[in-house]
Amino acid sequence: MTPAPTLPLLGFAAWSGTGKTTLLEQLIPLLVSRGLRLGVLKHAHHDFDIDQPGKDSHRLRQAGASQMMVASRRRHARIIETDLGEADFRELLASFDQRSLDLLLVEGFKHEHFPKIELHRAAIGKPLLFPLDRDIIAVASDQPAETTLPRLDINDLEAIADFVCAYLVQSRQQEQAPGAGFLSVEGARQAILDTLEPATRSIDLPLARCHGAVLAGDLVSPINVPPHANSAMDGIGLRSDDLAAGRWQLVGEVLAGQPRSAPVLAGQAVQIMTGAPLPPGVDTVVMREETRLDGEWVSVSAPVKAGQNVRQAGEDLALGAVAIAAGTRLGAPQLGLAASLGQATLTVRAPLKVALFSTGDEVQAPGETLAPGHIFDSNRFTLMALIAGAGCEVMDLGIIPDDPAILRQQLAQAAGDADLVLSSGGVSVGNADFIKQVLAELGQIAFWRIQMRPGRPLAFGKLGQTPFFGLPGNPVAAMICFLQFVEPAIARLQGRVWQPLRLSALAEQQMKSRPGRTEFLRGIFHQDASGVLRVRTTGPQGSGILSSMADANCLIEIVPAQPAIAVGERVWIHPLQGRVA
Ligand code: AMP
Ligand code: MG
Repeated sequence: MTPAPTLPLLGFAAWSGTGKTTLLEQLIPLLVSRGLRLGVLKHAHHDFDIDQPGKDSHRLRQAGASQMMVASRRRHARIIETDLGEADFRELLASFDQRSLDLLLVEGFKHEHFPKIELHRAAIGKPLLFPLDRDIIAVASDQPAETTLPRLDINDLEAIADFVCAYLVQSRQQEQAPGAGFLSVEGARQAILDTLEPATRSIDLPLARCHGAVLAGDLVSPINVPPHANSAMDGIGLRSDDLAAGRWQLVGEVLAGQPRSAPVLAGQAVQIMTGAPLPPGVDTVVMREETRLDGEWVSVSAPVKAGQNVRQAGEDLALGAVAIAAGTRLGAPQLGLAASLGQATLTVRAPLKVALFSTGDEVQAPGETLAPGHIFDSNRFTLMALIAGAGCEVMDLGIIPDDPAILRQQLAQAAGDADLVLSSGGVSVGNADFIKQVLAELGQIAFWRIQMRPGRPLAFGKLGQTPFFGLPGNPVAAMICFLQFVEPAIARLQGRVWQPLRLSALAEQQMKSRPGRTEFLRGIFHQDASGVLRVRTTGPQGSGILSSMADANCLIEIVPAQPAIAVGERVWIHPLQGRVA
């Protein structure tokens, strides 16, 4: 008997004519854009043939091959001739490469039992299927259906995609048995992000304290910046309709901050300083070095273009334009922009409070005398810095001993006080199960085995409404999990639009990985003399070797499809500058 598939399945039940394939065709790109890797299993009429008469594969089958595999660099297909009737559903499922998929969508196979979304359109004139089909988990219709099942609008594909993602998270959460299923890094990240909503609390902060905060709403410019056309140079201000004169009489001097209201007439010029507003009539500036003074007369020594050396009113920020978009993290340029608009305070998202603790009886705080067999708690300090670096407030809960009662009390309190709770250690298979028990009592936590190294296992879920991450205990794994999952989650909670930088570099040495798994190596990249990025590893890559992280300026990502990297091959790098500092 074929083992049960570990990949979540989701089917679609509908009367014919509902447009199942059309809907799937539109839904699949949405799911793919959310990072899901999809497989599709579709039932077909018994006379179906994917092959075509005249093709070599067809000829060889006609000649008597009962299995035909046709393969190219980009795809391959196996066609099996059978007279045994319908293929076994489970065998078909098992023939998918489970490791490179997050979800299998199934069309047809209506007599098989697996979760399905019912698709229904009133115009088809057929009754709903869900009352008789126990496998239906939601109804997507264009008319209200009377059911306690989740209801979706069949024309709202985003909502259907949301439902599918939530279903995926839920099915992952149910699958807690060791060895159950694996999730890709992208699939896990997306599943996490899909459960999170930006926190909405905002506060007004004086501009000088806004560095690193996230702007709550669009900052719309209440003025033009610069407020008036002004000179970009120290020089002579002229009228563009008067350039032919060749010689002008100087009638005054305009300094920054001292506007001149008297118009400059034909035949006249003013001396003007950088930043000084153009007086009426003047629209062109000649830099001082290109002018010749002769008493009260001035002439120019270089060609002059109408409008040159002038900064137009509003050319930096126009009145009414969005100067800084909501969700922007405020750095030096944004603070300058806000100041140039005269904003003394900004409305920013209240900083997230992130509760943090370490677990494990062997873990001791630095400063204590180390007992035999014990180690110092390094994770709390790396994580504190990462949390603060992401613009959050740290609530340091210290080291929680391996005691269920204490853990329960601390977790419950942290979930109440914080916007996000992080722990490290205690989530791997070999650990005392009480952590899992306590987490299960207090919330909905899934223990994921993610196809990555270092980093798995990872616990994620909610303690009540508060998101919780249980990071691995190994110091490097804890940091990499933070960078891959927690940092994006924090950005989502902050309402930020954020994408980490990923660049392509050439490997300077051989690197090994295992197919089907994302490998994150600690790397050192540099730009060679011809501008090409090159990368090597920091050396030994054990997940406890924290010095590898300290030496690195990037993570090297070897994607699951790459088993090994040869010298000169391309790898992805994630620069760490600004992320771990
Ligand atoms: P665990 O995930 O609890 O099985 O821990 C995996 C490894 O990480 C063990 O060698 C632990 O001793 C180590 N470890 C756990 N927590 C910490 C910590 N806070 N700081 C440094 N190492 C830790
Ligand atoms: Mg432990």
